[in-house]
Amino acid sequence: MIRQIFSFLFTLTCIWSWCFAGGIGHAFAPSPATPQLWGEDIPGVRTHLNTQEPVIALTLDACGGKRGNGFDKKLINWLRKHHIPATLFITGRWINANEEIAKELASSPLFEIENHGMNHCPCSVSGRSAYGIPGTGSVEEVMREVSDATVIIKKVTNRQPRFFRSGTNYYDEVALALIEDLGYNVVGYSIAGDEGATLSEDAIVKKLLQAKAGDIILCHMNQPESDTAEGLITVIPMLQKKGFRFVTLQEYPLR
Ligand SMILES: [Zn+2]
Repeated sequence: MIRQIFSFLFTLTCIWSWCFAGGIGHAFAPSPATPQLWGEDIPGVRTHLNTQEPVIALTLDACGGKRGNGFDKKLINWLRKHHIPATLFITGRWINANEEIAKELASSPLFEIENHGMNHCPCSVSGRSAYGIPGTGSVEEVMREVSDATVIIKKVTNRQPRFFRSGTNYYDEVALALIEDLGYNVVGYSIAGDEGATLSEDAIVKKLLQAKAGDIILCHMNQPESDTAEGLITVIPMLQKKGFRFVTLQEYPLR
């Protein structure tokens, strides 16, 4: 009988210390570093200019990699000729493949060069992927994806980039907080203008004619064989006729 009482008390003590050691918390609640969100529009991703003025930000991604190292000369030359400013989200790997072009773009006051990551990875602390593209797998990998590109962009532009858009524009909230801690505003879009450089000229025109004040348009400057240049060259003058002005991201606060 005494043995049974001792054994009962011993069991109670064990349960008690397990609770105090945080056992219940660990068993039933996720640890703070476990991400709960995964997507393009999680809180913190800015998608609009915070203004009612009739302005639109054109952002052009250069993703890099095997099928992504191209340069849409026709589009960029047309923007230069017509003095249309744009924010260029460029990866470190695209700059490494196009160093002279990147320097030339950086020397133009029309273009603001921002960070699209080193290797175009979705930003995850647990290796999640988006559209079949594997994401970063840890806190360290997120930091490297951002900072390695920062170093390369600074070398080309002599300035610190302020805006970040990950490859595929996917984040979990832990990765997003890390990127903000590195001093970046994370920027998505409100209109996917060329849907990954897959849309026809007509589809791009139709889509962009829906633009409203403060929209951030996402298109690509690395797919010269796509219809993106034709679409933008047709629709930008139409939008200007409607009273819109094109601006870079740094000219307005974002929301
Ligand atoms: Zn991209």
